[in-house]
Amino acid sequence: MHRITSLILFSSLISTAAAAQWAKICSSQPANKIRGCGSQGCGRYDNPRGGRKHRGVDVVCEDGSVVHAPFAGKIDKQARPYGNGNAIDNGVQLSGSGFCVKMFYIRPIKYSSPIKKGEKIGVLLPVQRVYRGITSHVHIQNCDLTDPTPSL
Ligand code: ZN
Repeated sequence: MHRITSLILFSSLISTAAAAQWAKICSSQPANKIRGCGSQGCGRYDNPRGGRKHRGVDVVCEDGSVVHAPFAGKIDKQARPYGNGNAIDNGVQLSGSGFCVKMFYIRPIKYSSPIKKGEKIGVLLPVQRVYRGITSHVHIQNCDLTDPTPSL
């Protein structure tokens, strides 16, 4: 009886560890938190965006905060959300540990390099300058546009 209980406890510990996959992304927050709804829409995956859908998640972060790598791997390249050169039109693509993501609204410290989980990759750009009154955030989307929420 005791052995079975231990086994169940051990199994649940393993599944908890597997679910907590990504490191904390933003230095100004105690944990990864998805932006709620406001005048500029909502921050969850698949929330409506005009005629389209939000294919990523918005992780709450203050302008100017340090942004960390969610997993170990490498910085593949620069990734820009708009290509229009506005104040928040910058970011990176990261891959490794079975993941590939694009992270937007970041001023990266580099555009190619191996990276450790939790390592500083950049600083959040002035989101308030472009979307005044929004809850500032890092936009993260999987490269294949599937839902990244379970990894947060
Ligand atoms: Zn977003």
